Order: sequence, then C-alpha cells, then structure tokens
Amino acid sequence: MSYRVQSIIICKPLRTTVRSRCLSLPPRFTPRVFFPCGSYRNRIGMDGNGISVASEVLVGDRELLDKKIAAIRSGGPQKMQVIVDFDRTLTRYSINGQPGQSSHGLLQQGNPEYDAKRQQLYEYYHPLEFSPKIPIEEKTKLMEEWWGKTHALLIEGGLTYDAIKQSVANATIAFREGVAELFEYLEERDIPVLIFSAGLADIIEEVLRQKLHRSFKNVKIVSNRMVFDSDGCLVSFKGKTIHSLNKNEHALDMAAPLHEQLGDADGPNNNNALVKKRTNVLLLGDHIGDLGMSDGLNYETRISVGFLNDNVENSLDSYRKSFDIVYLNDTPMWGVVELVSQLC
Ligand SMILES: [Mg+2]
Repeated sequence: MSYRVQSIIICKPLRTTVRSRCLSLPPRFTPRVFFPCGSYRNRIGMDGNGISVASEVLVGDRELLDKKIAAIRSGGPQKMQVIVDFDRTLTRYSINGQPGQSSHGLLQQGNPEYDAKRQQLYEYYHPLEFSPKIPIEEKTKLMEEWWGKTHALLIEGGLTYDAIKQSVANATIAFREGVAELFEYLEERDIPVLIFSAGLADIIEEVLRQKLHRSFKNVKIVSNRMVFDSDGCLVSFKGKTIHSLNKNEHALDMAAPLHEQLGDADGPNNNNALVKKRTNVLLLGDHIGDLGMSDGLNYETRISVGFLNDNVENSLDSYRKSFDIVYLNDTPMWGVVELVSQLC
C-alpha cells in the first residue's frame, strides 16, 4: 500500500540537545517532527497552498512524551536499554519500489522441495497467527508447532551456513538509514540494544555483517540460534524456541547464549541480570504486538516508537494510541538517533 499522510500541521519541534554534526549525521539531515494538535484526521490532506508535504512523525501526547524523556534522562544511560524488533523496524519496508524481504523470508535453503514445504507451512499457519478467534493458549501451541516443523525442515533439507550467506547476498533487504549511527551512539555510552526476533539469529547476524560491515559490542540478538557441524550443515537448534508470541524479555533466559560470533567477549549470559536492572526502555517496533517485547521486564519508564509501514489509513489511529511516537513513510532512523541524543 502506498498511502501517504500529507501536510500534518507542525505544532512544535522536538528539542535538539546534541547537534547533528556530533552524531555524524549527514549535512542534509533536518529532524522533521510533526505534532498533531487535536484531531489529526483534520490535518491529513493537502495544505492551503495545495502543496503536499510528506510528514514522517506523529506524537499523540506530547506532554506525556516530554515527561518520559525527562524521566529517562534523569535516570542516566546506566539505567537505559533499547529493545528493538528486527524485520521492518531496523530494516526497510520497501527497497527501490520492491517490498523488502524479512530475515525468515529471504532464506533459500538450496533445496526447492524444502523451500516449498516451508512455504506451505507459512500459508497454513500465518492466517492462524493473526486470527482473532483463536485463544492465546491455543495460538501459542500452534506457533510452537509451526516453528518446530519449520526448524525440522531446515535440518532435514540440509541447510548449510553457505546457503545462509548466499541467501543474504541475494536478498532484497536493507537497514534504514541511520541504524549504524544509532548503534554506534549507544555503543559509545554502553547502552545495550536487544534485537528480539522470532526468526533466526544466524541470518540476522549475517545481514548485519553483509549490510553494516561491522559489529557492535552492545548489540545482542535474542532469537533462534542454529548449530552447524564441521561441514557447515545445520544439525540442531539451541535453547527454547522463540516464536512470535514469546518474543520478549522472558526470552532472554530461554534463548541460546547470545551473540557468540559478533563480539561481547565477556559472555552474554552474564549480562542478562544486568540488562534486567536497566529499567528505562526505548522500544522500537513495527507492530502493536511488538510492545510485548518489554514483557518480563519490570520497567519504570518506557518510550515506545512504532514504524507504521502498511495499511496506514486503517492503522494510524491505533498506532498513535499505542506508541508514544509513530514514524510513517518508511522513514530513516535519524529521528530515533535524535531522540536518543536527548535521552542521554
Ligand atoms: Mg517487524
């Protein structure tokens, strides 16, 4: 869907406490923050001059957001953590007019028969995942079943690490502009970033390697991790399965040791307890369900940022009510970089 919100009246700009040049932001970057006053619906459309201006950000309750920013800022970087979804939050929704692939969707295991079998599972279970008629307990079992069958097919179909590398190289996937700078800024301040994903940690790591060409010691991936034999063939999975309904801070304890290949020489499991003491949270997601990523953390203050990529017309109201800040139009990450600079 290519619906775009246009010409939202600018009410008040976000304060800037760290100038763009300090963050190595591109010279052309100007934060574009738009705060709807009153009914935002009246503000969608062409402006009085008939000039369309694509808007990127909505804040439902500016006063509440200001309070949260002040609370996190006063707690300091040592009390803060960032929890982030991967697909279509860190990555772009659309790339050169084509839909961006997800970390799961990009995988071609080099065995068309098994790729087709996984697709069949997707077609059966995906509608169940979003069915409002299935109770959560039953749905959780269905998700465990789906993930279990998919993982078994990956093993049975002989997935290799080389196939993952090749799949990522061939994939239509890219990070939003500013993601590397966001990670770097947080790394410099020792603020952990937990990437929660119901996909596959090994694929996400390969995407980070191939697309960002570097690692970050503060970035940890909480997801399903594979075990390969000496020939690079998948033989098993570590830890409990992380699926779409248990992708939250409880998963920190269920997941395999985090981030074995991308740094963190201290051993990530040692850090789980420390992470849970960081009770001020910046949460980034592209689905309302992503708000559940902070479940399991007894947080004091949470600022939630939602990236609304699809079905904008129908979802705008619920996103505005659910997230403190909503980004539209597949926007880059610069606004979040700016926000983080205020929080620190
Ligand atoms: Mg997502």
